[in-house]
Amino acid sequence: MLLISSARFEEHTTPPGHPERPERAAVFTRVAAAWRDHFGGRVVEPRPATREELARVHDAEYLDALEAVRGQAVMLDDDTFTSPESYDIALLAAGAAVQAAEHALTTGETAFALVRPPGHHAERDRAMGFCLFNNIAVAAAAAVARGLSRVAVVDIDVHHGNGTQWMFYEDRRVLYVSTHQYPFYPGTGGATETGTGKGLGFTFNIPLEAGASDADYAAAYERVAARLVEYAPALLLISAGFDAHLDDPLASMRVTTQGYAAVVQSLAGAARQVGCPMALVTEGGYDLDALRDCLEATIHVL
Ligand SMILES: [Zn+2]
Repeated sequence: MLLISSARFEEHTTPPGHPERPERAAVFTRVAAAWRDHFGGRVVEPRPATREELARVHDAEYLDALEAVRGQAVMLDDDTFTSPESYDIALLAAGAAVQAAEHALTTGETAFALVRPPGHHAERDRAMGFCLFNNIAVAAAAAVARGLSRVAVVDIDVHHGNGTQWMFYEDRRVLYVSTHQYPFYPGTGGATETGTGKGLGFTFNIPLEAGASDADYAAAYERVAARLVEYAPALLLISAGFDAHLDDPLASMRVTTQGYAAVVQSLAGAARQVGCPMALVTEGGYDLDALRDCLEATIHVL
């Protein structure tokens, strides 16, 4: 397992009281340091995403607009903000996701990018829900650009990854699977959203009611694992959000750290069964202790 981590992820700051705060990156840094120092694990610094990589999933006008606010603190939507460093840090987050995917594909070893800002709400043409670039989508598109025709993205964050879903809604080369609290922010992710055109059947949403437990998640991930084995991806990407944890302040699920470990275990089992490498990229997770515990549990399961 390779971790991709940088203390620079603390440099993207948000207004006081914002849940997606720099302290989350401090958790990433501590988890990575412990992995390196106590377990001999490897940790590397991320590189920035290139314009070409970003332009596979984002409109040129949006990329220009974000670059134009480099060095400035602005509000991009009701809950998405930049600080002067945000543009460069967001480039690193997207680049780290691509690096994780490339490492997994090149070596077969699992890679985990510990990044912020998160990405899965970012749309083709706008920032949304704390997200600037859609990191996991940039990674999936990089894999497709390498010639892969079957890439799976499984989104374990408590929120539906609207951005990722729409970017690949008509594209069967990327299977998007999500479990999420529903109805809930961002409002998408109903079971009837299954893709369109050539992508029909390659979006798989499992909406879950508020209060879902470890047992509910275990049942959902049996279905997810079955769909993965059927699809037989050449790469499994995981949008690793830990905000379905019972201690999370934003959502209302009751998943324990052990429950999250079981989710990761079931995805790893499916990947093993089809012989595909895995790369993970962080998304949400806003209770710092739960975030640390879930990251450690995930790393140890893998
Ligand atoms: Zn989330």
